[in-house]
Amino acid sequence: MRKIAIYGKGGIGKSTTTQNIVAGLAEMGQKVMVVGCDPKADSTRLLLGGLNQHTVLDTLREEGEDIELDDLRKIGFRGILCVESGGPEPGVGCAGRGIITSINMLEQLGAYTESEDLDYVFYDVLGDVVCGGFAMPMREGKAQEIYIVLSGEMMAMYAANNICKGIVRFAESGGVRLAGMICNSRMVDNEVEMTEAFAKKLGTTMIHFVPRDKMVQRAEINKKTVIEFDPDHNQANEYRTLAEKMQENKSRVIPTPIEIEELESLLVEYGIV
Ligand code: ADP
Ligand code: MG
Repeated sequence: MRKIAIYGKGGIGKSTTTQNIVAGLAEMGQKVMVVGCDPKADSTRLLLGGLNQHTVLDTLREEGEDIELDDLRKIGFRGILCVESGGPEPGVGCAGRGIITSINMLEQLGAYTESEDLDYVFYDVLGDVVCGGFAMPMREGKAQEIYIVLSGEMMAMYAANNICKGIVRFAESGGVRLAGMICNSRMVDNEVEMTEAFAKKLGTTMIHFVPRDKMVQRAEINKKTVIEFDPDHNQANEYRTLAEKMQENKSRVIPTPIEIEELESLLVEYGIV
């Protein structure tokens, strides 16, 4: 079983991309569980055809610890298992802690055991700065492989660099590694070349460039992944290609974060600023 966490700046497209990737993997016959690690609890909406109103933390709050695995998971597109961690009540406690509570509960109830026969677990994690609670999935060895979603925009790259610093910090103790970058296009000039060059500086690769396409919004309004909503569309094939690349990808590195000045000169070199 591969345990993969998807990180990246807020709004970069983590949840959209993750759900389309797992839809692609499910089409390929893989058994997948998605664990949303964002208090917004919108990591599985496109797989379930609407928001999962019952997060793990809600269920624990309402029903205590005497619960079953199927109280926490819902079955989505092509049998994908969908879990939303949820969050603490606003202003109370740390959302990152909530993530760990929820993952621990899944472990206790046997969600990761052999008999569940999972090929993949995906964690869709809020937070671009890997401090505090949101580092939990990588800190406690819950996820082994990290993919970072980024674009050619400065702040997305800045966030990616910070996430790499987090990976370095926890790589020795927890064994977490960076597996690659996914560029979710913001239509920035020279975006492919620049994100590839940036990935190289970090010691990894940009495994796929996902084009920006209005079909993503159309599918989203219809509460579906592109793969489900319009399976023959080019964007659906982009996500399938990405899923295949992830399936093949064996790269696992401890990244080499760069200085802010180096990031700035990369932006200058590729004509962004
Ligand atoms: P995150 O989970 O990183 O906060 P989301 O997945 O919620 O980000 O995406 C934010 C918005 O960007 C969504 O409304 C989504 O429709 C849009 N989006 C994501 N990827 C693409 C894309 N490749 N083309 C067009 N719109 C996209
Ligand atoms: Mg999200």
